[in-house]
Amino acid sequence: MNLVKFVLDSSAFIGGFLPEEDEYFTVHEVIGEIEDDQSKERFSYFLSSGKITIKEPNSELVREVTKNAQATGDKLSLTDIKLIALAIELDSFIISEDYGIQNVSSTMNVKSKSIRESGIKKIINWEYYCMGCRKIYSKDKKTCQDCGSIIKRRPKFKKH
Ligand SMILES: [Zn+2]
Repeated sequence: MNLVKFVLDSSAFIGGFLPEEDEYFTVHEVIGEIEDDQSKERFSYFLSSGKITIKEPNSELVREVTKNAQATGDKLSLTDIKLIALAIELDSFIISEDYGIQNVSSTMNVKSKSIRESGIKKIINWEYYCMGCRKIYSKDKKTCQDCGSIIKRRPKFKKH
């Protein structure tokens, strides 16, 4: 099977993007941009499922992207620049909601997509279920109020 590689920026996690069969990559700086609990949970879900690799891009490519961003006049953060550099290095798509990232990517022949355009958006909500009686809870609890078994969490998928 031919896996598609995607580089994800912080908006992918904030926007509810979830892993499928493909391979995902991001840069370390993205972690600092994920602040709300839901997005952090999504990110940790990527990590714990082994679906994402955090990688430092080639520094030569980082310099090249920086030059291109200056030429187009797009104001990109170091995180943004590193994400584009990583997408070039891996010959992958970049998923981003940021217009500047999309613009600079296009000047460097990197295909970018917004989450909506990617067509693979799934909004995640967590649901909690009892391992004993299978009762569903909307909030996390330690144990089931009916049977006392352990409550587990699973992603609740919703097609966009
Ligand atoms: Zn139960």
